[in-house]
Amino acid sequence: LKLNGFNGIRWYRPLKLKQVLHLKSLYPDAKLINGNSEVGVETKFKNAQYKVLISVTNVPELLTLKVKEDGIHIGSSVRLAQLQNFLRKVIVERDSHEISSCEAVLRQLKWFAGTQIRNVASVGGNICTASPISDLNPLWMATGAKFEIIDVNNNIRTTPAKDFFLGYRKVDLRPDEILLSVILPLTKPFEFVKEFKQAHRREDDIALVNAGMRVYIKEAGGDWIISDVSIIYGGVAAVPLRASKTENFLTGQKWDYGLLDETFDLLKEDIPLPENAPGGMVEFRSSLTLSFFFKFFLYVTHEMN
Ligand code: FAD
Repeated sequence: LKLNGFNGIRWYRPLKLKQVLHLKSLYPDAKLINGNSEVGVETKFKNAQYKVLISVTNVPELLTLKVKEDGIHIGSSVRLAQLQNFLRKVIVERDSHEISSCEAVLRQLKWFAGTQIRNVASVGGNICTASPISDLNPLWMATGAKFEIIDVNNNIRTTPAKDFFLGYRKVDLRPDEILLSVILPLTKPFEFVKEFKQAHRREDDIALVNAGMRVYIKEAGGDWIISDVSIIYGGVAAVPLRASKTENFLTGQKWDYGLLDETFDLLKEDIPLPENAPGGMVEFRSSLTLSFFFKFFLYVTHEMN
């Protein structure tokens, strides 16, 4: 397994997690590959060079798809098309209040790239690329998903998706760690999740702005009070951005039209897009951040009636 002066590229295709971890311990800089839809672009067009490539498409431990107590366990090598099929099944089988997150992810996947990419691209490949415009990362954060990470010594740690993205294409993974799986929680009664994506074209296009939003509303003294809320935008900063001031304001508020004005004001503070923001179209993208929330408000209000 030693490279010993070998100058070409090494390609491994292990069939067990144990072997993946062993290879990773020998070659901490090795690049894991799933669908190659991101790495392929890097090597072909961005002159990236990787000496050791580990294809992890055929490792059963990375292909889990299972509903457990704490949510849906999704192996990092699960392809997006497989995830779509699985979520469709879960949506039919589970109680209607449990599936709001599943429905949001499924709707987002409909507009994720095209069929060819979804057939090969993996959940883990999208997460670990940490693209600021990833269509799924804001949703993993908003839904309260957790990521399971395994190191070369077989130690597993779990981290909330909201803490995983550290900077521009930088994630909380050491060279001796890989992403094992995602745990997507099922929703409770009166917990609602919604996805958003606005692109130039509907099909196979990158988002101008996207978002994931979740709210959990409880009845108290005849009013519907916001108990917990997550509002995450993608495409507006180097990492998916949490609208923290807005979330703080909304928590404890009554779910009615009265909250809208203040929410819009706070969203402008939370998601500032300076005139020279990368991606341009600043006015349009700013207005999208507000209109996404308005759509979310209407969606939840409609679901509650
Ligand atoms: P790969 O290229 O195989 O890997 C990507 C990165 O993840 C590599 O750095 C790899 O080492 C790392 N990695 C993979 N698995 C692991 C693991 N288990 N642990 C640690 N690191 C790991 N993205 C969107 O969000 N929305 C879109 O609409 C969209 N459209 C696209 C359209 C086209 C035409 C193309 C080419 C790309 C598009 N993308 C889009 C981006 C890309 O397809 C996705 O990010 C995809 O999910 C990447 O998955 P992959 O399996 O192909 O990744």
